Amino acid sequence: AKADGRGVYRFYEPDMNKRLQRRRTLETELRAANLDEQFYLVFQPIIDLDANKVTTFEALLRWRHPVHGEVSPDEFIPIAEDTGAIVPLGEWVLRQVCLELKSLPESICIAANLSPMQFKRDDIVETVARVLVETDTPAHRLELEITETLLLEDNRKLHVDLKRLRKLGSRISLDDFGTGYSSLSYLQRFAFDKVKIDRLFIKDIAKSADQAAIVQTIVNLAFTLGMTTVVEGVETEEQLRIIRAMGCDEAQGHLFSKPIPSDAIVGYLAEHERK
Ligand code: C2E
Ligand code: CA
Ligand code: CA
Ligand code: CA
Repeated sequence: AKADGRGVYRFYEPDMNKRLQRRRTLETELRAANLDEQFYLVFQPIIDLDANKVTTFEALLRWRHPVHGEVSPDEFIPIAEDTGAIVPLGEWVLRQVCLELKSLPESICIAANLSPMQFKRDDIVETVARVLVETDTPAHRLELEITETLLLEDNRKLHVDLKRLRKLGSRISLDDFGTGYSSLSYLQRFAFDKVKIDRLFIKDIAKSADQAAIVQTIVNLAFTLGMTTVVEGVETEEQLRIIRAMGCDEAQGHLFSKPIPSDAIVGYLAEHERK
């Protein structure tokens, strides 16, 4: 049913009414937003477990609305995807990431999240290539994370796009692995550089033999297929000890750091180097 017409709302619970109204409002606000004024990125370190060093930061998008305040990406990304606003917003993210890289040591990479909708509604390969050229950024310093829901759409164009993105020289990570409906065969069919194991599988890893077995299996499989593994959502020393013993390559989570603002990155790196 359409939620447009007057009177439609009275068929819903008041709660539902409020949610719909907020969604409508955010839709409109998103369309009107001046990206540079309302959006910003925060950066979360990803640690190489062998070298015990930060190699990469993941860029995470934030929306600070002048009236509604901070809106969570879990709320606004789906709206941006539905309305198509994700295309200009996604390109803005890529450009900001490339600009950010300029003020960081050459050994540091930044990973940007790509929405499945950017593959559908945009020529994403052309966009990435153009932003890299315009900002004079070496492709290998930009990593791209895509969620596995994308793979459900098992089409040729996607396959070709992923290949072309890799050919540009950027590493591609499969994000949130294990949360969708994809099968292990996707891992083999599409060439990824990294698999990011969702924090769902790490949460109870210290207590659950099942979780431990799942993570170990993913790590082994990734290794066999020539991919590296990143574990997301590492919050405790115990989780870190376990995943390290399993041979995971990289880790990310509150144990190391929450996402930090741009101007805190250099300080973070300096502090981390000394340890
Ligand atoms: P994601 O790509 O899986 O990002 C990881 C999320 O986990 C981030 O939430 C991060 O703050 C959170 N996180 C990191 N470490 C921990 C931990 O130790 N414990 C817990 N509980 N959480 C942790 P955030 O920033 O709220 O982002 C949520 C989602 O929004 C992201 O999930 C991603 O799917 C989407 N998103 C964020 N930025 C962008 C973007 O620029 N483009 C697109 N398309 N999606 C984005
Ligand atoms: Ca991600
Ligand atoms: Ca993730
Ligand atoms: Ca997630």
